[in-house]
Amino acid sequence: MTVGIVVVSHSRALADAAVALAREMAPADLRIEVAAGLDGGFGTDATAIATAVGVADTGDGAVVLMDLGSAVLSAELALDLLDDPDARDRVLLCPAPLVEGLVVAAVTAGGGAGREEVAAEAAAALTAKQEQLGTPAPAVPASAAPGAGEVVDGFTVTLPHGLHARPAAKLAALVRGLPGEVRIRNTTTGSGWAPAASLTRVAALAALQGHQVEVSASGDDARAALDAVLDLAGRGFDEEAPTEAAAPLPSGGPFPASPGVALGPKRTAAAAAVTVPDDPAADPETERADLDRALAAAGREITMARDATAREVGPAEAGVFDAHLLMLDDPDLLAATRAGIAAGASAARAWADASERAAADLAGVGDAYLAARAADVRAVGDQVLRALVGAPDAAVVADGVLVAADLTPAQAAALDPARVLGVVLAGGSPTAHAAILLRARGVPAVVGAGRDVLEVPDGTPVALDGATGEVVLDPEPGVAAAFRDRAAEQAERDREARSHATAPAVTRDGVAVLVGANAGSPADAAAAAAAGADLVGLVRTEFLFLDRPAAPDVDEQEAAYRAVAEAMGGKRITLRTLDVGGDKPLPYLPVAGEANPFLGLRGIRLAAAHPGLLADQLTAMVRVAHDVPVSVMFPMVSAVEELHAARQALDAAIERVGRGTPEGLQVGIMVEVPAAALKAAAFVPHVDFFSIGTNDLTQYALAAERGNPAVAGLADPLDPGVLRLVDAVCRAAGDGPLVAVCGEAAADPLAAELLVGLGVRELSVAPAAVPGTKQTVRDVDAAAAADRAERALTADGPAAVRAAGDPDR
Ligand code: PEP
Ligand code: MG
Repeated sequence: MTVGIVVVSHSRALADAAVALAREMAPADLRIEVAAGLDGGFGTDATAIATAVGVADTGDGAVVLMDLGSAVLSAELALDLLDDPDARDRVLLCPAPLVEGLVVAAVTAGGGAGREEVAAEAAAALTAKQEQLGTPAPAVPASAAPGAGEVVDGFTVTLPHGLHARPAAKLAALVRGLPGEVRIRNTTTGSGWAPAASLTRVAALAALQGHQVEVSASGDDARAALDAVLDLAGRGFDEEAPTEAAAPLPSGGPFPASPGVALGPKRTAAAAAVTVPDDPAADPETERADLDRALAAAGREITMARDATAREVGPAEAGVFDAHLLMLDDPDLLAATRAGIAAGASAARAWADASERAAADLAGVGDAYLAARAADVRAVGDQVLRALVGAPDAAVVADGVLVAADLTPAQAAALDPARVLGVVLAGGSPTAHAAILLRARGVPAVVGAGRDVLEVPDGTPVALDGATGEVVLDPEPGVAAAFRDRAAEQAERDREARSHATAPAVTRDGVAVLVGANAGSPADAAAAAAAGADLVGLVRTEFLFLDRPAAPDVDEQEAAYRAVAEAMGGKRITLRTLDVGGDKPLPYLPVAGEANPFLGLRGIRLAAAHPGLLADQLTAMVRVAHDVPVSVMFPMVSAVEELHAARQALDAAIERVGRGTPEGLQVGIMVEVPAAALKAAAFVPHVDFFSIGTNDLTQYALAAERGNPAVAGLADPLDPGVLRLVDAVCRAAGDGPLVAVCGEAAADPLAAELLVGLGVRELSVAPAAVPGTKQTVRDVDAAAAADRAERALTADGPAAVRAAGDPDR
């Protein structure tokens, strides 16, 4: 009997350290899997937990240990994600304390106990500590007048926005993990006491900057609980000062988020109000069960939104969803709802009343920031209410330009492109999930436009250009006409581009440029073929390796690569070897926690550390290369020695397959590391092509993490510093290896023109962007583009590069 253990924690470092401690006392072969942290930050991810459970459970089941509040929700959601009901039944979520529970669970499981016993032992893990310490007699400060066993102390609120939802959420999460009861009150306003575990009640205390707050703790370990709260307050609730001080919108906006021109009346996201039916209530037990089901459903939706936001935008932005999750669990809100049900109301009526009261309490505080938090309470209140009454999700209905503070991924996915001409968001980020969905759906969008856009009345004309980030509210007739012309030109361009999609892209002065597509699956390759792509310039083979407990074998990989090749009808496909690593860890390739995963063991570095994995992948690629033209591409290369080692692995794969070197096989590297760009000449004798990954090259050149909205304004591939790196590669390549670009920049018309001017001869873009990119190339005069690129290299920034753009464009 070997029960596996899964550790779910918001912190990767914490989980790794706890596992290391437990391993000291457990047999070496005990399976302990970790699902912790998000993209180098704090958070939990249901998909990662489900994967970890799949690895930990080898048939005898798994026991899952979790840290703070929402980790439990993520783990519950993970169980829902397991397809096999038997596998689900074999998993026990254990309420044990993480460190003590893990050590006891590891020892018990290592001794061969079954999962029930492992979970029970772990759950009792605190007994020894409690017995040893006894219940400490609380020290009561003389200044306080607490009840028996209560300790009281206080702190001054230092946060610029006061004790608002996010710090209140942190306080609630902290005290919910503590024994006994913790209450707080605002002594400056003379408020009553509020349970510190209640997010809404704490926020309603209106504890603003400079206010005095009194904290009372009672029950077991009251002094420790009080100290923990004071410690949190002393740390400023772990809020980052600049974020607090700044408006909660990204600086440097507006940002172009999805190309296209739109002009239309302003529309706001209209969610049909949920009406509570007048139906008589069922018996209280049924109503309570309905409430629990609705809370669980809302919890799952919010957890999914949080995980998606954490992945696509960042853990800090995902924090708002943690606050929403805590509201679902708010003891006061739940007590008020249950009281309503006990008094004969339906769950929907009781919940609607209780949540509206909580929102009204916040709105009535008289502080603008706290009043805005009432909107959060109403949003969560509505979400639960919809689940209770079976109403559809907030639908975005608009004939015109949708203007909103932000969109959830669900809302972006739900809007109808036939009616929503464009989207302008006051907040948001170009790399947010919502923006990615808008791009995928072809809806022009500008994000980070600032709060002013929300103020203009509905129906006001709004013009936007999603390629440049321009937004004009209530444009003058001349400006509106210019946008209309631009939109018409663009529609004509799109039509024209699509009608010539399969023809080659040749510049006005006769320079042929290959336009390829980037594919993350065989379906993408089919879309690429339909869009007229000359080749697949990048196959992100990660699609085969993620979200599974073990790597695919050679046969499975061969079949997948053949599927991509078949979809392309025999045109060349560029297979990139696995590009995962620190920021995208695979459960079956453990990587020690890294402080800077983007600078860590990723891409070719990870492959070098797992030669068997690389060997399998190259074997599958070589097999396919005997039948269709294949380019093998190595990612994240920074040293020539890495390329030598990779080529040796490729030679060994050719030997293994035993049919000689495939005729059309080409070998190249991605240039994503500035050092590789600057010493490209050293690679020239060993490659057939270079493919510049501007997404990573830009982040490394400007030290601006991709996907971090706080530095999105800096991470501009048109920065002359990045263009100089591209130039260095083109010069080193000369008439030798072909230089391609497969980063997002290749789809930007201005960037494409400059790249062609610098000497790039292949552009690989998203399948949908292929026809437009071909058309861009046809409109370019390569000699003029070269002059323009020359000037761009000496410009002082990306704005100057753009400003020097062709006035006709
Ligand atoms: C790039 O870095 O530009 C690139 C194409 O690779 P990926 O986006 O997959 O990291
Ligand atoms: Mg890359």
